[in-house]
Amino acid sequence: MATKTPKLSDPASWSPETQLVHGGVLRSQFSETSEAIFLTQGFVYANAEEAEARFKNESPGYQYSRFANPTVTMFEERMKLLEGAEEARATATGMAAVTAAILSYLKTGDHIVAARAMFGSCRYIVETLCPRFGIEMSLIDGTDIANWRAAVRPNTRMFFFETPANPLLDLVDIAAVSKLGKEVGALVAVDNVFATPLLQKPLEHGADIVIYSATKHIDGQGRCLGGVVLCSTKFVTDHLQDWVRQTGPSLSPFNAWVMLKGLETLPVRVRAQSETAAKVADHLAGKKGIKQVLYPFRADHPQAALARRQMKGGGQMVSFEVEGGKEGAFRFQNSLSIVKISNNLGDAKSLVTHPATTTHYRIGPAARAELGISDGFLRLSVGLEDAADLLADLDAGLAAVERG
Ligand SMILES: *Cc1c(COP(=O)(O)O)cnc(C)c1O
Repeated sequence: MATKTPKLSDPASWSPETQLVHGGVLRSQFSETSEAIFLTQGFVYANAEEAEARFKNESPGYQYSRFANPTVTMFEERMKLLEGAEEARATATGMAAVTAAILSYLKTGDHIVAARAMFGSCRYIVETLCPRFGIEMSLIDGTDIANWRAAVRPNTRMFFFETPANPLLDLVDIAAVSKLGKEVGALVAVDNVFATPLLQKPLEHGADIVIYSATKHIDGQGRCLGGVVLCSTKFVTDHLQDWVRQTGPSLSPFNAWVMLKGLETLPVRVRAQSETAAKVADHLAGKKGIKQVLYPFRADHPQAALARRQMKGGGQMVSFEVEGGKEGAFRFQNSLSIVKISNNLGDAKSLVTHPATTTHYRIGPAARAELGISDGFLRLSVGLEDAADLLADLDAGLAAVERG
């Protein structure tokens, strides 16, 4: 038999594109090409002694799919490789991942600081749920490192933020906040959904925990919910492992399989969608009917330099404000033929959201004003359609804004 090149036999040495196709594969005795779906709740033991050894952790192997499952393991292993993390734990949704990362670690008397520009449900966890369990919280404008420093208390144990954040694509300096976290003894958890694991690697900038809603770009085709937490072995052993095993936010093996297949095409999709998003942002900027365009890799983004420093690309999300407030935004949305109105993102289909009346309706006008979400703001998740078709569709939306 020919000997294989040693370097290439180590998946950690592969490029992301290769890791996402071959990483973490566990082949069964049938040597299937595509990853198998182990749609089973449990596992059987050859004899009573084996069952005993498995439960005493003296023999490796699976016991029950709330704890672990081979298809879910493949997804976790592939994510670990891509992120360069020691450990990964998959969850049923992105929110289950956020909740697990925060509540498996913090306890009564601790303090969490979070950037207030974030996904609505994440804000609920920090602002409403944490205080119910005696966990103090501070919501700050995360774009300025001075605000993080000013919010630190003796009991601060965690920093949490999204970057780019939903829906206005403002950024947090991951390296600066991570440095402060080390200084004051707070773990830094980053919700990295908008950037995707390909365009931004928070662990390389010093963060401790990275969280994804796999529902978004990892699936990428609008099918299944899922989430994942990436972190150190120590965090899993000391905190996350028991939370996931005992409270049961486990990912379904079927959904893990969908995510595995999604990961295979993630680089191709993210590249194509980011290219189109950059074109969309440039096309919209300065057009009649547009007040403002926000895209991290445009020179007029307020944090363009930081974006270039910590991201490899601008991503596939574009935010923009149209003239005419809510009426203008509604006319825009209602005139689109290709782009669909939805609160989701990261899909193959382009999706437009009006945050003020949907995702950010519940936080109320004062909190929206604080975040800079005016009634004319729209958030666009750019899909895989032809760029020229999309630009023509958006022009039709702008024409409707102008018609008034
Ligand atoms: C969608 C999303 C979540 C929640 O994920 P689910 O899979 O819907 O639970 C959390 N954070 C961000 C930034 C998201 O976009």
